Amino acid sequence: MPRLSEVIAALETLWPAERAESWDAVGTVAGDPDQEVTRVLFAVDPVQEIVDEAVKLGADLLITHHPLYLRGTTTVAATHFKGRVVHTLIKNDIALHVAHTNADTADPGVSDALAGALDLRVTGPLVPDPADPEGRRGLGRLCALDHPLTVREFAARAAERLPATAQGIRVAGDPEALVRTVAVSGGSGDSLFDHVRAAGADAFLTADLRHHPVSEARAHSPLALLDAAHWATEWPWCELAASQLDEISDRHGWDLRVHVSKTVTDPWTAHAASATSDPLGAPN
Ligand SMILES: [Zn+2]
Repeated sequence: MPRLSEVIAALETLWPAERAESWDAVGTVAGDPDQEVTRVLFAVDPVQEIVDEAVKLGADLLITHHPLYLRGTTTVAATHFKGRVVHTLIKNDIALHVAHTNADTADPGVSDALAGALDLRVTGPLVPDPADPEGRRGLGRLCALDHPLTVREFAARAAERLPATAQGIRVAGDPEALVRTVAVSGGSGDSLFDHVRAAGADAFLTADLRHHPVSEARAHSPLALLDAAHWATEWPWCELAASQLDEISDRHGWDLRVHVSKTVTDPWTAHAASATSDPLGAPN
C-alpha cells in the first residue's frame, strides 16, 4: 500500500500546484504523509455530506476540485461547518487534497472531461497556457461536432449527458441555429466571452452565466449560450481524474480502490418552470 506522500507525489505530476492561479488554495489540506492509502474518493465539493460519504466508504483520501479554505482562517472549531469538516477528516484519518485551477488548465483537465461527457472532439484550449510549448494546456476547450446539431439538439444532449441538477440547461440563442463548433469551460465561464468570440465558436457551454455579460454577448454576435449548473460542468472531471489515478495505481502495483461520489452537491435544489410553454420545445 502506498503512503499518502507517494500518492500526493503522483497527483502532483497530473496537477502541479505551481500551475494553480495565485489566488487559489490547492494541495493537501489535511493528512499525515506517512499514513497508508487504500481507498480514495473523488468529489467536486469538500462539504460535510461528502466527508460523511468518505467515512462510510472507509476512504483514506478525499480528493476534491474545490478548496475547503480559499483564504486563511483563525479557527477550525467544529461549531463552524468548515471546522466540522476538518474534525471529521482528522478523527477518521482521512486526508483531503485539492486540485482546482491546476486541474482546470491541465492536459487533460476539467474542460476535457466536460467535452468528453458531451461527446465533443477537442481541437485545443480556449485560452492557451503560454508556458506550454505543445499548446495543449489552458483554460476551456474549443471543440468540434462531427455532425452539426441545432442549438435545441445540443442543449438536449447536454441535459441528457451531464449529471441531473435542478437547474438543467439554460439557453440563450436561436434554437434552430446550427452548431458546428463549441467552446466549453467547466465552472464559471462568463469572463471568457472575448476568447469565445475571437475563436468564432457557434456555441459556448459553461456555468454561472450572469444577465449583463450574456445580454452583451448576445448583442455582439449570434453566439448561442448554454448555462449548466456549476457542479454538473465539473463533475465529469472526477471520473476522468479517478481513471488517471487508477492507471497510476496499476502502474505502481498499488491496488488502490478509487471511487467517484455521485452525491449532487449543486446548492440549487429545485426549479419551478414558468407558466409559459417551453420555448425550446419542438414546434407544433
Ligand atoms: Zn468550480
